[in-house]
Amino acid sequence: MRPFVYRRPESLADAATLAAGGQAPPVLAPAQFIAGGTNMLDYMKLDVMRPETLVDLNGLSDRALRRIELSGDGLILGALVHMGEVQDHAGIRANYPLIAEALQLAASQQIRNMATLGGNILQRTRCEYFRETSWRCNKRDPGSGCDAMEGFNRQHAVLGTSDKCIATYHGDFAQALIALDATIDVLGPDGARSLPFARLHRPPGDTPQIETVLKPGDIVTAIHVPAGPWTRRSHYLKVRDRQSYAFALASAAIALYLDGDTVREARIALGGVATVPWRAREAEAVLTGQPLDDATLARAADAAFAGAVAHAHNAFKIPLGKQTLVRALRETAAMETA
Ligand code: SF4
Repeated sequence: MRPFVYRRPESLADAATLAAGGQAPPVLAPAQFIAGGTNMLDYMKLDVMRPETLVDLNGLSDRALRRIELSGDGLILGALVHMGEVQDHAGIRANYPLIAEALQLAASQQIRNMATLGGNILQRTRCEYFRETSWRCNKRDPGSGCDAMEGFNRQHAVLGTSDKCIATYHGDFAQALIALDATIDVLGPDGARSLPFARLHRPPGDTPQIETVLKPGDIVTAIHVPAGPWTRRSHYLKVRDRQSYAFALASAAIALYLDGDTVREARIALGGVATVPWRAREAEAVLTGQPLDDATLARAADAAFAGAVAHAHNAFKIPLGKQTLVRALRETAAMETA
Protein backbone atom coordinates (compact mmCIF):
# COMPACT_ATOMS: atom_id res chain seq x y z
CA MET A 1 0.00 0.00 0.00
CA ARG A 2 1.26 3.48 -0.83
CA PRO A 3 1.83 6.12 1.88
CA PHE A 4 -1.05 8.51 2.52
CA VAL A 5 -2.02 11.32 4.87
CA TYR A 6 -4.75 10.45 7.38
CA ARG A 7 -7.14 13.15 8.63
CA ARG A 8 -10.04 12.75 11.06
CA PRO A 9 -12.18 15.91 11.09
CA GLU A 10 -14.86 16.50 13.72
CA SER A 11 -17.28 18.54 11.61
CA LEU A 12 -18.93 17.98 8.26
CA ALA A 13 -17.77 21.36 7.00
CA ASP A 14 -14.14 20.51 7.79
CA ALA A 15 -14.49 17.15 6.09
CA ALA A 16 -15.88 18.71 2.93
CA THR A 17 -13.11 21.31 2.86
CA LEU A 18 -10.38 18.73 3.35
CA ALA A 19 -11.71 16.57 0.55
CA ALA A 20 -12.36 19.39 -1.91
CA GLY A 21 -8.67 19.88 -2.60
CA GLY A 22 -8.74 18.43 -6.10
CA GLN A 23 -10.90 19.03 -9.11
CA ALA A 24 -10.07 15.76 -10.90
CA PRO A 25 -12.77 13.11 -11.43
CA PRO A 26 -13.46 11.04 -8.31
CA VAL A 27 -11.29 8.12 -9.40
CA LEU A 28 -8.23 10.39 -9.47
CA ALA A 29 -9.14 12.72 -6.64
CA PRO A 30 -6.17 13.18 -4.29
CA ALA A 31 -8.42 13.01 -1.21
CA GLN A 32 -11.00 10.34 -0.51
CA PHE A 33 -13.48 9.82 2.28
CA ILE A 34 -13.40 6.66 4.32
CA ALA A 35 -15.99 5.37 6.81
CA GLY A 36 -16.33 1.58 7.13
CA GLY A 37 -13.36 1.16 4.81
CA THR A 38 -14.56 -2.17 3.48
CA ASN A 39 -14.27 -1.09 -0.15
CA MET A 40 -11.60 1.61 -0.01
CA LEU A 41 -8.97 -0.40 1.86
CA ASP A 42 -9.36 -3.33 -0.51
CA TYR A 43 -8.66 -1.11 -3.46
CA MET A 44 -5.79 0.70 -1.79
CA LYS A 45 -4.11 -2.64 -1.06
CA LEU A 46 -4.64 -3.68 -4.67
CA ASP A 47 -3.16 -0.34 -5.82
CA VAL A 48 -6.39 0.37 -7.72
CA MET A 49 -7.12 3.50 -5.67
CA ARG A 50 -4.25 5.74 -4.65
CA PRO A 51 -5.54 8.62 -2.51
CA GLU A 52 -2.93 11.01 -1.19
CA THR A 53 -5.21 11.85 1.74
CA LEU A 54 -7.84 9.78 3.51
CA VAL A 55 -10.52 11.81 5.29
CA ASP A 56 -12.00 9.57 7.98
CA LEU A 57 -15.68 10.38 8.62
CA ASN A 58 -15.95 8.31 11.80
CA GLY A 59 -14.96 11.25 13.98
CA LEU A 60 -17.86 13.46 12.88
CA SER A 61 -20.00 14.50 15.81
CA ASP A 62 -23.18 15.29 13.86
CA ARG A 63 -25.82 12.94 15.29
CA ALA A 64 -27.97 13.23 12.16
CA LEU A 65 -25.41 11.13 10.33
CA ARG A 66 -26.26 8.18 12.56
CA ARG A 67 -30.04 8.51 12.77
CA ILE A 68 -32.70 5.99 11.87
CA GLU A 69 -36.06 7.80 11.81
CA LEU A 70 -39.27 6.06 10.89
CA SER A 71 -42.48 8.12 10.60
CA GLY A 72 -45.68 8.34 8.62
CA ASP A 73 -43.82 10.34 5.98
CA GLY A 74 -41.19 7.70 5.42
CA LEU A 75 -37.76 6.60 6.52
CA ILE A 76 -34.62 8.67 7.06
CA LEU A 77 -31.28 6.95 7.33
CA GLY A 78 -28.07 8.76 8.24
CA ALA A 79 -25.15 8.00 5.95
CA LEU A 80 -22.97 6.69 8.79
CA VAL A 81 -25.52 4.12 9.94
CA HIS A 82 -24.09 0.63 9.55
CA MET A 83 -25.72 -1.83 7.18
CA GLY A 84 -26.21 -4.34 10.01
CA GLU A 85 -28.20 -1.85 12.11
CA VAL A 86 -30.80 -1.42 9.37
CA GLN A 87 -31.19 -5.09 8.45
CA ASP A 88 -32.04 -5.84 12.11
CA HIS A 89 -34.35 -2.85 12.73
CA ALA A 90 -37.82 -4.22 13.60
CA GLY A 91 -39.71 -1.23 12.20
CA ILE A 92 -37.84 -1.36 8.91
CA ARG A 93 -38.29 -5.10 8.61
CA ALA A 94 -42.06 -4.64 9.06
CA ASN A 95 -42.60 -1.52 6.96
CA TYR A 96 -39.76 -1.61 4.40
CA PRO A 97 -38.85 -5.31 4.11
CA LEU A 98 -37.20 -4.70 0.75
CA ILE A 99 -34.58 -2.51 2.40
CA ALA A 100 -33.87 -4.94 5.23
CA GLU A 101 -33.65 -7.91 2.88
CA ALA A 102 -31.37 -6.18 0.38
CA LEU A 103 -28.96 -5.29 3.17
CA GLN A 104 -29.11 -8.70 4.82
CA LEU A 105 -28.22 -10.45 1.58
CA ALA A 106 -25.18 -8.25 0.98
CA ALA A 107 -21.63 -9.23 1.91
CA SER A 108 -21.07 -10.98 5.28
CA GLN A 109 -22.31 -10.11 8.77
CA GLN A 110 -18.82 -8.90 9.75
CA ILE A 111 -18.70 -6.56 6.76
CA ARG A 112 -22.25 -5.36 7.35
CA ASN A 113 -21.28 -4.46 10.91
CA MET A 114 -18.44 -2.28 9.59
CA ALA A 115 -19.81 -0.88 6.34
CA THR A 116 -21.90 2.29 6.29
CA LEU A 117 -24.92 3.04 4.13
CA GLY A 118 -23.19 6.02 2.51
CA GLY A 119 -20.18 3.92 1.61
CA ASN A 120 -22.35 1.08 0.36
CA ILE A 121 -24.15 3.16 -2.23
CA LEU A 122 -20.82 4.53 -3.46
CA GLN A 123 -19.01 1.20 -3.65
CA ARG A 124 -17.02 0.63 -6.78
CA THR A 125 -17.34 -2.20 -9.25
CA ARG A 126 -15.91 -5.66 -8.55
CA CYS A 127 -15.00 -6.18 -12.22
CA GLU A 128 -11.99 -8.53 -12.05
CA TYR A 129 -10.17 -6.51 -14.68
CA PHE A 130 -10.64 -3.32 -12.68
CA ARG A 131 -9.22 -4.98 -9.57
CA GLU A 132 -6.05 -6.30 -11.21
CA THR A 133 -3.78 -3.51 -12.40
CA SER A 134 -2.02 -5.54 -15.10
CA TRP A 135 -5.21 -5.50 -17.22
CA ARG A 136 -6.41 -2.64 -19.37
CA CYS A 137 -9.38 -0.86 -17.81
CA ASN A 138 -11.02 2.39 -18.91
CA LYS A 139 -12.54 2.88 -15.49
CA ARG A 140 -9.23 2.63 -13.64
CA ASP A 141 -7.01 4.10 -16.37
CA PRO A 142 -9.17 6.22 -18.71
CA GLY A 143 -8.54 5.62 -22.41
CA SER A 144 -6.47 2.46 -21.89
CA GLY A 145 -9.09 0.02 -23.19
CA CYS A 146 -11.29 -2.66 -21.65
CA ASP A 147 -9.94 -6.19 -21.38
CA ALA A 148 -13.29 -7.47 -20.12
CA MET A 149 -14.85 -6.99 -23.57
CA GLU A 150 -12.89 -9.87 -25.07
CA GLY A 151 -12.07 -11.55 -21.77
CA PHE A 152 -14.07 -13.65 -19.33
CA ASN A 153 -17.20 -11.57 -18.80
CA ARG A 154 -19.60 -13.95 -17.08
CA GLN A 155 -20.22 -11.48 -14.23
CA HIS A 156 -20.63 -8.45 -16.46
CA ALA A 157 -23.66 -6.36 -17.32
CA VAL A 158 -26.18 -6.77 -20.11
CA LEU A 159 -28.06 -3.49 -19.51
CA GLY A 160 -26.67 0.04 -19.64
CA THR A 161 -23.33 -0.95 -21.16
CA SER A 162 -21.19 1.06 -23.56
CA ASP A 163 -18.30 0.21 -25.85
CA LYS A 164 -16.00 1.56 -23.13
CA CYS A 165 -17.21 -0.44 -20.12
CA ILE A 166 -19.52 -3.35 -19.27
CA ALA A 167 -18.86 -3.55 -15.53
CA THR A 168 -21.79 -4.52 -13.31
CA TYR A 169 -22.91 -2.35 -10.43
CA HIS A 170 -22.68 -4.97 -7.70
CA GLY A 171 -24.59 -3.43 -4.82
CA ASP A 172 -27.93 -4.64 -3.44
CA PHE A 173 -29.12 -1.77 -1.24
CA ALA A 174 -29.11 0.61 -4.19
CA GLN A 175 -31.69 -1.50 -6.01
CA ALA A 176 -34.05 -1.10 -3.05
CA LEU A 177 -33.49 2.66 -2.96
CA ILE A 178 -34.09 3.23 -6.64
CA ALA A 179 -37.23 1.08 -6.61
CA LEU A 180 -38.63 3.06 -3.68
CA ASP A 181 -37.86 6.50 -5.18
CA ALA A 182 -35.38 7.44 -2.48
CA THR A 183 -33.61 10.78 -2.38
CA ILE A 184 -30.26 11.64 -0.85
CA ASP A 185 -28.93 14.67 0.97
CA VAL A 186 -25.49 15.88 -0.05
CA LEU A 187 -23.26 18.46 1.61
CA GLY A 188 -20.48 19.92 -0.49
CA PRO A 189 -18.27 22.96 -0.87
CA ASP A 190 -21.24 24.79 -2.46
CA GLY A 191 -23.63 23.94 0.38
CA ALA A 192 -26.37 21.37 0.92
CA ARG A 193 -28.61 19.89 -1.73
CA SER A 194 -30.91 16.93 -2.30
CA LEU A 195 -31.23 14.81 -5.36
CA PRO A 196 -33.17 11.74 -6.46
CA PHE A 197 -31.17 8.59 -5.81
CA ALA A 198 -31.88 7.61 -9.42
CA ARG A 199 -29.66 10.51 -10.54
CA LEU A 200 -26.65 9.62 -8.39
CA HIS A 201 -24.99 6.99 -10.58
CA ARG A 202 -23.87 7.65 -14.14
CA PRO A 203 -23.94 4.95 -16.81
CA PRO A 204 -20.46 4.38 -18.27
CA GLY A 205 -20.90 5.99 -21.69
CA ASP A 206 -17.57 7.39 -22.89
CA THR A 207 -16.34 8.20 -19.38
CA PRO A 208 -16.72 5.11 -17.19
CA GLN A 209 -14.20 6.53 -14.71
CA ILE A 210 -16.84 9.08 -13.62
CA GLU A 211 -19.31 6.91 -11.74
CA THR A 212 -21.52 9.44 -9.95
CA VAL A 213 -22.63 13.06 -10.18
CA LEU A 214 -20.81 13.87 -6.93
CA LYS A 215 -17.97 16.35 -7.01
CA PRO A 216 -14.80 16.46 -4.90
CA GLY A 217 -15.77 17.35 -1.36
CA ASP A 218 -19.38 16.18 -1.68
CA ILE A 219 -20.54 14.02 1.24
CA VAL A 220 -23.75 12.01 1.20
CA THR A 221 -25.29 12.77 4.59
CA ALA A 222 -28.70 11.06 4.56
CA ILE A 223 -31.06 8.86 2.60
CA HIS A 224 -34.82 9.53 2.52
CA VAL A 225 -37.31 6.83 1.53
CA PRO A 226 -40.86 8.15 1.12
CA ALA A 227 -43.80 6.25 2.56
CA GLY A 228 -46.23 4.67 0.13
CA PRO A 229 -48.89 1.97 -0.11
CA TRP A 230 -46.29 -0.34 -1.70
CA THR A 231 -43.55 -0.34 0.96
CA ARG A 232 -44.94 -3.13 3.18
CA ARG A 233 -45.43 -5.39 0.17
CA SER A 234 -41.84 -5.17 -0.97
CA HIS A 235 -39.19 -7.82 -1.40
CA TYR A 236 -35.64 -8.46 -2.63
CA LEU A 237 -34.67 -11.65 -4.43
CA LYS A 238 -30.99 -12.31 -5.09
CA VAL A 239 -29.72 -15.17 -7.25
CA ARG A 240 -26.02 -16.00 -6.97
CA ASP A 241 -23.50 -18.79 -7.33
CA ARG A 242 -23.59 -19.58 -3.60
CA GLN A 243 -26.09 -18.61 -0.95
CA SER A 244 -23.80 -16.44 1.14
CA TYR A 245 -21.15 -13.80 0.57
CA ALA A 246 -21.48 -13.61 -3.20
CA PHE A 247 -22.55 -10.92 -5.62
CA ALA A 248 -25.80 -11.24 -7.53
CA LEU A 249 -25.86 -12.84 -10.93
CA ALA A 250 -29.36 -11.39 -11.09
CA SER A 251 -31.56 -9.76 -8.50
CA ALA A 252 -34.90 -8.00 -8.36
CA ALA A 253 -36.19 -5.37 -5.95
CA ILE A 254 -39.98 -5.23 -6.01
CA ALA A 255 -42.67 -3.09 -4.37
CA LEU A 256 -46.30 -3.67 -5.26
CA TYR A 257 -49.55 -1.84 -4.56
CA LEU A 258 -52.33 -4.30 -5.35
CA ASP A 259 -56.08 -3.98 -5.66
CA GLY A 260 -57.13 -7.59 -5.24
CA ASP A 261 -55.23 -9.40 -7.97
CA THR A 262 -54.72 -6.27 -10.04
CA VAL A 263 -51.57 -4.17 -9.94
CA ARG A 264 -52.26 -0.53 -9.14
CA GLU A 265 -48.56 0.32 -8.99
CA ALA A 266 -45.39 -1.67 -9.42
CA ARG A 267 -41.86 -0.56 -8.61
CA ILE A 268 -39.07 -2.69 -9.98
CA ALA A 269 -35.29 -2.49 -9.94
CA LEU A 270 -32.82 -5.02 -11.26
CA GLY A 271 -29.39 -5.88 -9.88
CA GLY A 272 -26.47 -7.97 -11.09
CA VAL A 273 -27.33 -7.30 -14.71
CA ALA A 274 -26.74 -3.57 -15.24
CA THR A 275 -23.94 -1.03 -15.03
CA VAL A 276 -25.88 1.17 -12.59
CA PRO A 277 -28.80 0.59 -10.19
CA TRP A 278 -31.48 -0.17 -12.76
CA ARG A 279 -35.12 0.87 -12.62
CA ALA A 280 -37.22 -1.29 -14.95
CA ARG A 281 -39.90 1.23 -15.86
CA GLU A 282 -40.90 -0.61 -19.05
CA ALA A 283 -41.79 -3.65 -16.97
CA GLU A 284 -43.69 -1.48 -14.49
CA ALA A 285 -45.77 -0.04 -17.33
CA VAL A 286 -46.68 -3.51 -18.56
CA LEU A 287 -47.92 -4.53 -15.09
CA THR A 288 -49.92 -1.43 -14.21
CA GLY A 289 -53.66 -2.14 -14.24
CA GLN A 290 -53.13 -5.81 -15.05
CA PRO A 291 -53.60 -9.05 -13.12
CA LEU A 292 -50.36 -10.84 -12.24
CA ASP A 293 -51.04 -13.83 -14.46
CA ASP A 294 -48.41 -15.82 -16.33
CA ALA A 295 -48.84 -13.97 -19.61
CA THR A 296 -48.52 -10.53 -18.00
CA LEU A 297 -45.48 -11.58 -15.99
CA ALA A 298 -43.79 -12.89 -19.11
CA ARG A 299 -44.49 -9.67 -21.00
CA ALA A 300 -43.11 -7.61 -18.13
CA ALA A 301 -39.92 -9.68 -18.03
CA ASP A 302 -39.47 -9.36 -21.79
CA ALA A 303 -39.94 -5.61 -21.52
CA ALA A 304 -37.36 -5.34 -18.75
CA PHE A 305 -34.68 -6.98 -20.88
CA ALA A 306 -35.70 -5.71 -24.31
CA GLY A 307 -32.56 -3.58 -24.55
CA ALA A 308 -30.14 -6.17 -23.16
CA VAL A 309 -26.83 -6.72 -24.95
CA ALA A 310 -24.84 -9.87 -24.14
CA HIS A 311 -21.14 -10.60 -24.51
CA ALA A 312 -19.38 -13.94 -24.91
CA HIS A 313 -20.02 -15.40 -21.45
CA ASN A 314 -22.98 -13.56 -19.94
CA ALA A 315 -25.90 -14.27 -22.31
CA PHE A 316 -27.33 -16.54 -19.59
CA LYS A 317 -28.07 -13.41 -17.53
CA ILE A 318 -30.92 -12.45 -19.83
CA PRO A 319 -33.12 -15.53 -19.21
CA LEU A 320 -31.89 -15.70 -15.61
CA GLY A 321 -32.79 -12.05 -15.07
CA LYS A 322 -36.26 -12.60 -16.51
CA GLN A 323 -36.87 -15.66 -14.34
CA THR A 324 -35.61 -13.80 -11.28
CA LEU A 325 -37.99 -10.93 -11.97
CA VAL A 326 -41.00 -13.20 -12.47
CA ARG A 327 -40.25 -15.18 -9.31
CA ALA A 328 -39.71 -12.00 -7.28
CA LEU A 329 -43.03 -10.58 -8.48
CA ARG A 330 -44.86 -13.78 -7.53
CA GLU A 331 -43.24 -13.88 -4.10
CA THR A 332 -44.03 -10.22 -3.48
CA ALA A 333 -47.67 -10.66 -4.50
CA ALA A 334 -47.98 -13.59 -2.08
CA MET A 335 -46.66 -11.65 0.94
CA GLU A 336 -48.87 -11.33 4.03
CA THR A 337 -48.97 -7.59 4.76
CA ALA A 338 -51.70 -7.26 7.38
FE1 SF4 B 1 -12.66 -1.67 -16.63
FE2 SF4 B 1 -15.25 -1.52 -17.10
FE3 SF4 B 1 -13.74 -2.90 -18.72
FE4 SF4 B 1 -14.15 -3.80 -16.25
S1 SF4 B 1 -15.67 -3.60 -17.83
S2 SF4 B 1 -12.19 -3.72 -17.38
S3 SF4 B 1 -14.31 -1.86 -15.12
S4 SF4 B 1 -13.62 -0.69 -18.36
